[in-house]
Amino acid sequence: MLMKLLFQQTPKAYRLLSTQSTLPLLNKCSVFSYCSSSQPKIPPSNSVEQLQDQPNNTISIDRSGLYNPTEHSHEPSSDSELVKHLKGIIKFRGGPISVAEYMEEVLTNPKAGFYINRDVFGAEGDFITSPEVSQMFGEMVGVWAMCLWEQMGQPKRVNLVELGPGRGTLMADLLHGASKFIKFTESLHIHMVECSPALQKLQHQRLKCMDEDGTAEGVDKRSRSTLTGTPVSWHATLEQVPTGLPTIIVAHEFYDALPVHQFQRGSRGWCEKMIDVTEDSLFRFVLSPQPTPATLYLMKRCKWAVPEEVEKLNQIEVCPKAMDLTYTLAKRIGADGGGALIIDYGLNGVVSDSLQAIRKHKFVNILDNPGSADLSAYVDFASIKYSAEEASDDVSVHGPITQSQFLGSLGINFRVEALLQNCTDEQAESLRTGYWRLVGDGEAPFWEGPEEQAPIGMGTRYMAMSIVNKKQGIPIPFQ
Ligand code: SAH
Repeated sequence: MLMKLLFQQTPKAYRLLSTQSTLPLLNKCSVFSYCSSSQPKIPPSNSVEQLQDQPNNTISIDRSGLYNPTEHSHEPSSDSELVKHLKGIIKFRGGPISVAEYMEEVLTNPKAGFYINRDVFGAEGDFITSPEVSQMFGEMVGVWAMCLWEQMGQPKRVNLVELGPGRGTLMADLLHGASKFIKFTESLHIHMVECSPALQKLQHQRLKCMDEDGTAEGVDKRSRSTLTGTPVSWHATLEQVPTGLPTIIVAHEFYDALPVHQFQRGSRGWCEKMIDVTEDSLFRFVLSPQPTPATLYLMKRCKWAVPEEVEKLNQIEVCPKAMDLTYTLAKRIGADGGGALIIDYGLNGVVSDSLQAIRKHKFVNILDNPGSADLSAYVDFASIKYSAEEASDDVSVHGPITQSQFLGSLGINFRVEALLQNCTDEQAESLRTGYWRLVGDGEAPFWEGPEEQAPIGMGTRYMAMSIVNKKQGIPIPFQ
């Protein structure tokens, strides 16, 4: 019933997908369209041949710079603020930093991180995400949230949390789609967990927020979205969201931005890949000579895997932040009730070597001009499942299922049909392309435009997983 009502809603002015763009509009898993193996290929500049741990290729870290600072140069440095900062950490720490520390600084350094000061999404930005592809994505996530809310017994007050909301498009489409379900929208308090002040502002605008004093200004004050009259608050971390209310959490392309540690197998066993600076002042990868603190997480991750899974790999990525976040999230759902939906690209098992950089819809070297390109890594869904189950006996984990199965079971086919009934030719083209991008697999067969601009389906490369309080039973559509 709920779904039928939703699909019958009159279509709003469709967001047009930028099919006119000359760029291929890369989503982060498009690397698969360039390679056939099950693990992504990384541009050659990221390969670590120079690191091969052979007996005659000793890896040593030069700490002499600490004690004998190089001569002061009066040449103006062309390094960006972030590059200077990274080199400063490496220099003053007296040694290389982990790939995870590098990734965290590059993405979320409070002054110059990739996400911090600008809008990086869409045709004009660096990559495109599903909510930006079509309004149907946020609407379907709204259907999932409403179904869960019904399974929760229609509580009068619910925290709806979004982790990493980007431009706020998913939440705006969710609210728009749900706006006729007054009991649902009236129960909500929205919490946006976002580290970027620039994106917080965009989210405030996208949700058409008014502050309590009647202005549409800042994100610090108490705000209300005029789309549905729902209160909205912003936080830098999930821990800052108040506890004590049943909670629905959505994380779309959030986990892939969490920093990963990379390990490489050598004659000494597993060594962590680190980043340091050459004498020519360039970043490069080196291998840690001793075990690093993150090795504990590697051991934990390997214990969860069957030996054969690890034996065949020479590189492994682990994401302690993903494990810790899942632990916090599962504890909250176990205590307060509700559930979480995680959608991302990744694998249901140990990830080998997936870290990639995208700038202006093109793959680039991870070490090239940090801060000017997005860094992201495959999400290890199996590790999320184990972390959640470790955190609480009161939660159950479902999936991952493919994005195509997820959206298909929630009724995206009916929604696209309904929208197609009442639109212009241009909108119809955009809807078909958007639909394919969300649920298709590979290049769209109907595409008649330039080959390099063919829409690539994200339907099987992206996966959905849900963690719910056991009281709710199995969430729709994971049955
Ligand atoms: N969900 C959005 C955006 C995905 S990009 C979409 O699908 O379009 C990742 C988002 O997470 C951005 O909004 C980024 O600023 C935010 N983010 C990344 N790392 C974060 C962190 N450690 N804490 C809070 N927000 C983070």
